Amino acid sequence: MGNQIAVLVHTKRGEEVILDSDAHIYYYEAGGSALLAGVQLSPVKGLLTPQGPEILKKYLRPEDIHFPKTSLVCLENTFNRGGGTVLAPATMADIYELSHKQNLKVHLDGARIFNAAISLNIKVKELTCYCDSIMFCLSKGLAAPVGSLLAGTSEFIGTARKYRKILGGGMRQAGVLAAAGLIALQSVDRLKEDHANAHRLATGLSSIPGINIDLQRVQTNIIVVKVAGKVSASELVDKLAAHQIKCATFGPGIIRMVTHKDISPEDIDLVLATAKNLLT
Ligand SMILES: *Cc1c(COP(=O)(O)O)cnc(C)c1O
Repeated sequence: MGNQIAVLVHTKRGEEVILDSDAHIYYYEAGGSALLAGVQLSPVKGLLTPQGPEILKKYLRPEDIHFPKTSLVCLENTFNRGGGTVLAPATMADIYELSHKQNLKVHLDGARIFNAAISLNIKVKELTCYCDSIMFCLSKGLAAPVGSLLAGTSEFIGTARKYRKILGGGMRQAGVLAAAGLIALQSVDRLKEDHANAHRLATGLSSIPGINIDLQRVQTNIIVVKVAGKVSASELVDKLAAHQIKCATFGPGIIRMVTHKDISPEDIDLVLATAKNLLT
């Protein structure tokens, strides 16, 4: 809802939004931008890589009666379908500058923006200074039971509140949930442990025959595992589930694993031992 409200506030019907072809807003939000904001999404491959600014240049349209008006660029940091990869501040800065030159706004899907900041060892505002609005989740690695925040200028938020109400997101007695959210925000440094556990899991798994992991892409708490042996990805998910180890398929032959606050280094070692047993 946070992302969808941002798209609603930043655009008008019939306008165009540029985003990565694997972005959550494009891939996982049930076509909401078409349904709610009535915008056309322009999915771009590679936008959320260091080459993103160069790629974006090719998609920025000049004024032409045949073209939709592009009004928004959406970024995602960390990049979920990219494997939890981090977009560097310099890349964000270049995209922000290019977009603003053309009068486009930039919205950041920062569901895991604190994972990005912790991974880069910088303050989160060194990333969020390169966007006009940001949505982030309290409920992912930050481990609150529920909740996301949308931030922007006071004018932006004024309009956003109205759309939130329209979409059914107005809440009463929300302080109960906000209290959990405050604890989440005080636990940002703990994400380091998730990253260390993810690294431990990825390096351990990649030594098992039939498993392939691009270790360069294991930058935060997400591990994308390619399975190419006797056991298929979905079979492996089922077999791990029988051992109380929960993960999910992420496309054909691919499993996504995520570390979080209730996963310890000992748990990681258990996963490694179990996976080894199942696959060798
Ligand atoms: C979780 C997530 C969201 C929000 O999705 P919900 O299903 O509405 O919680 C948005 N973007 C990214 C990248 C996410 O991982």
